[in-house]
Amino acid sequence: MSVLTALTAAVRDGSVEVIDLTAPLTSQTPVIALPEPFGNTARFSLSEISRYDERGPAWYWNDITTGEHTGTHFDAPVHWVTGAGGEDVSQVPVTKLIAPAAVLDFTAQAAEDPDFLLEIGHIKQWEADHGPLPDGGWLLYRTGWDARSNDQAEFLNADASGPHTPGVSVECARWLAAEAPVTGIGVETVGTDAGAAHSFDPPFPCHSALLGAGKYGLTQLRNLARLPDQGAVVIAGPLPIVSGSGSPCRALALVEHA
Ligand code: MN
Repeated sequence: MSVLTALTAAVRDGSVEVIDLTAPLTSQTPVIALPEPFGNTARFSLSEISRYDERGPAWYWNDITTGEHTGTHFDAPVHWVTGAGGEDVSQVPVTKLIAPAAVLDFTAQAAEDPDFLLEIGHIKQWEADHGPLPDGGWLLYRTGWDARSNDQAEFLNADASGPHTPGVSVECARWLAAEAPVTGIGVETVGTDAGAAHSFDPPFPCHSALLGAGKYGLTQLRNLARLPDQGAVVIAGPLPIVSGSGSPCRALALVEHA
């Protein structure tokens, strides 16, 4: 049997499960909130063109408004100044949009400390227990933050000192960019960097190092708890927005059951 025939048969009989990692897009979908003087992104919204009425008697359709970085989305290298001149989201090779994933679970640590940072040592220990990170694949960083993803305030978890959400240390971001075999990092939070990463040196190290190295980000993922530590395949579908810095993205995972 061909690989593709086997795959579609397995999807139909459930031995390969398709898990949606995508947050639904509504006007309530949380978005990042930057302080003054920075610009901010639009929330998702629908604007009705017609709905079986005088504007279009047999058809229903909408215009959409969205930021490139609204909801579950894909960060392209050109999103960051370190990646200026790199790929825009339409230029990401489609072969990189289907890739293996490792899921590293730090839910307990993030529950204890919302400012928890992933360090190189955490990944080395995880690799000792679970095997190497996938070559050309995703590091999916599970923090339990998807449980907050229906509420803007809970999701951003901000106080007077700014947002408090888990992320990656400066050293770890540099290691992921330069030494780890992964093609990118996927997170459950509003962005790939920690909430407090505005005050890191350099600021926003995950964006800075990974996008600068031509790697990618996937954000606001959910259902990572349903994936195995190793062996899932992620299919990410950003829109090919020409010159775009990113795109809302349908992210699916294929999980094989023995
Ligand atoms: Mn983004």
